[in-house]
Amino acid sequence: MFGVKTKYFFDSAAGVEPPPAPSTDLPLLEVRGIRKVFSSGGLFAPRRRLVAVEDVSFSVHRGEAVALVGESGSGKSTLARIVLRLDPPDSGSILIDGKPVLAHEPRSASLAYRGRVQMVFRSRVQMVFQDPFSSLNPVHTVAHHLSRPLLRHRKAHPRDVRARSIELLRLVGLEPAEDFMDRLPNELSGGQRQRVAIARALAVEPDLLVADEPTSMLDVSIRTGILNLFSQLKRDHGLAILLITHDLASARYLCDRILVLFRGRVVEAGPSADVVSAPAHPYTRALVASIADAGHLQSQGGKRPHADPITTAGGCPFASRCPSVMDVCRSVDPAPRSVKGRLVRCHLYPESAQVGAE
Ligand code: SF4
Repeated sequence: MFGVKTKYFFDSAAGVEPPPAPSTDLPLLEVRGIRKVFSSGGLFAPRRRLVAVEDVSFSVHRGEAVALVGESGSGKSTLARIVLRLDPPDSGSILIDGKPVLAHEPRSASLAYRGRVQMVFRSRVQMVFQDPFSSLNPVHTVAHHLSRPLLRHRKAHPRDVRARSIELLRLVGLEPAEDFMDRLPNELSGGQRQRVAIARALAVEPDLLVADEPTSMLDVSIRTGILNLFSQLKRDHGLAILLITHDLASARYLCDRILVLFRGRVVEAGPSADVVSAPAHPYTRALVASIADAGHLQSQGGKRPHADPITTAGGCPFASRCPSVMDVCRSVDPAPRSVKGRLVRCHLYPESAQVGAE
């Protein structure tokens, strides 16, 4: 969608209709069976293996927002880095429009070649970071931050760069846009910085935006505005969004589907409204309960919950914290099963409904 440059930049100004929906049902992003293991220890310490991501599969279509939700250590950020080609997986594949995108360049490929491959990938997939205070260079103006990707990815002729930058600022709701062009990051509020970061990501007209906790460092009053901006980009421009968050409420607000991760595995996946209104997995129930519990974070000293290190060999990884734990849970790792149109990995539901990962 974002590849239709003239419509993207000028639809609101010139009354041009948004680009038509793609005729194909092929997902924009397909993640298949991703596994990632980290090793620690060394000469003088015992070796330990941490399974950060285990057999995760999902897809994102154009114009769709999908959330990866989980506590710290659940594997969601590792997964985001793999999707962004920043880290290689140990196994599994990632496809954009049905084509594999993981680094399959020959070993002899030059750095320049690898750089070109990454640049082509970056024109399809962009990232919005958690911290709007460090994601912009403090010595450069807003105009500089927007002109670089426009020129580097040849999205605008040098003589049009300023006009395109102003269009981008309008698109993300910074008005009057001209007034923001020559400001430095320290002359912007946190919400305004995040909007500039989003405008910079949109400069290359990506198909997919990976947003890693994009509102967690912003005041509560500003968060809804940023989520509404994502929602508008998704609806009006067909942008696909992969939201990485610990906040189930934000995921419910923005996303069509939610995948709940615990210790690197999807334990529940389904339509956002269903997952939040009637959570099936005990871990999802605990996350939903924590939304309602206003004292939840304070009771943990303001810190987010963190997944315990993996110590369980066999059995359900959530068994030590699960209020519904049964004998079978301690010895048999539950396979995913289909529960009312959702994927749930839990022995509370009949095995006859087992399915492959979503
Ligand atoms: Fe709880 Fe057992 Fe379900 Fe794991 S499999 S979430 S321990 S009920």
